[in-house]
Amino acid sequence: MAAKIIVLGGSFGGLTSAFELKRLLGKKVDVSVVSDLDRFIFIPSLPWLSMGWRRPKDITLSLEKILRPKGIEFIHQEATTIDADSSKVITSAGEFNYDYLIIATGPALVFSAVSGLGPEGGHTECIFTLEQAERCHEKWKEFLKEPGPVVVGSVQGVSCFGPVYEYAFEIDAELRRRKLRHKVPITFITSEPYVGHFGIGGLGKSKRLMEDEFADREIKVIANTAVEEITPGEVRLKDGTKIPFKLSMFAPPMAGVKAVSHLGNPKGFIPVDANYRHKEISNIFSVGVAVAMAPPEQTPVPTGLPKTGFMTVKMAKDAASTLTSEILGKAPPATEPVDVLCLMDMGNTAAFMKAKPVIPPRQESVLKAGIQYKWMKAAFEKYYLWKISRGLTQLP
Ligand SMILES: Cc1cc2nc3c(=O)[nH]c(=O)nc-3n(C[C@H](O)[C@H](O)[C@H](O)COP(=O)(O)OP(=O)(O)OC[C@H]3O[C@@H](n4cnc5c(N)ncnc54)[C@H](O)[C@@H]3O)c2cc1C
Repeated sequence: MAAKIIVLGGSFGGLTSAFELKRLLGKKVDVSVVSDLDRFIFIPSLPWLSMGWRRPKDITLSLEKILRPKGIEFIHQEATTIDADSSKVITSAGEFNYDYLIIATGPALVFSAVSGLGPEGGHTECIFTLEQAERCHEKWKEFLKEPGPVVVGSVQGVSCFGPVYEYAFEIDAELRRRKLRHKVPITFITSEPYVGHFGIGGLGKSKRLMEDEFADREIKVIANTAVEEITPGEVRLKDGTKIPFKLSMFAPPMAGVKAVSHLGNPKGFIPVDANYRHKEISNIFSVGVAVAMAPPEQTPVPTGLPKTGFMTVKMAKDAASTLTSEILGKAPPATEPVDVLCLMDMGNTAAFMKAKPVIPPRQESVLKAGIQYKWMKAAFEKYYLWKISRGLTQLP
């Protein structure tokens, strides 16, 4: 009888796991993807969407349409919890049994970490979900009519820093293009000990390069800082500094999502072994942002380790090949630690980053900036959407 596999989450981790399992095991498995969203969203392009450089239809795909042709069932439901003892996913529309579960539910965004943080009930914008990025774009259009100070930042405990850099550089580039930059003081606030740390202890000459990039753009940097509260139009730092804003975008800390947090560490992230199998529950795997990973070093103001799309895809492939070996009665494959390979937009240019492995000491550690990386980033978006729409996860 075919093994029943449920994949929770229909994004980078979930889709890669589901397509790989079906490709490697065919009729030996029944694969279902359970997702609260009916679309795959190419999250790395959300900063572009918030600037008006992309529309939702440019960066989203219907999950039903891409999963069905590959023989994978799509269940459009939010999982409310997991009953690991009886191997069941519980949703408001019913329960689903599994032989194996892959948790790829990404993060919960913890806006409650700082008073006044976030678009719902707070005073700052965010660009981490499609809805937030769309809302941020509407705020941006209003802002352009009557520009003023901008504050972009990451509060204490943040792990996903890249998009915050992208947003600061994009705002700068767009304001210069519109000949409005002289009306807008931009402040970049971060919990990282220095710019270019990125939650991974820096890479290559990232500190020097990022300091120069911010200086060239006259973006004021306040690093190694924690935010006390955000009031309408003002960021208040723990050291008493007050910075006014007309528009502000802040990254929040992340935790595991509620439906799976009881299977995780105190933050709700899932503890896994080197093959992405739950450390205590052998028929549960987890990949991507949902996984517990310790930061490479303690920082004076707390920061977390980013789990990038590239890392997520590698984890999903390793989890799928481990599960494939198990179902075929073979020994599990040896896995390598995850690397960072990333293209970070910088408005009118971009940076290429490589940290191999992500946790130092490293074999390779590179950060370079150049216009060619901007072209590569745009080309990669198109390539990835083409690849995932056809389920071709075996391609690089
Ligand atoms: C703005 C932004 C820009 C980024 N840019 C880059 C970049 O340039 N390069 C890079 O490598 N990485 C980038 N990243 C990181 C990258 O997006 C993540 O690594 C990646 O999305 C992680 O994939 P995932 O599948 O683990 O989780 P997610 O992409 O977060 O997906 C989780 C999915 O699970 C679903 N889900 C959650 N809870 C439930 C539930 N209870 N029931 C059912 N479904 C549920 C969610 O709706 C979601 O679709 C960026 C991240 C952000 C926020």
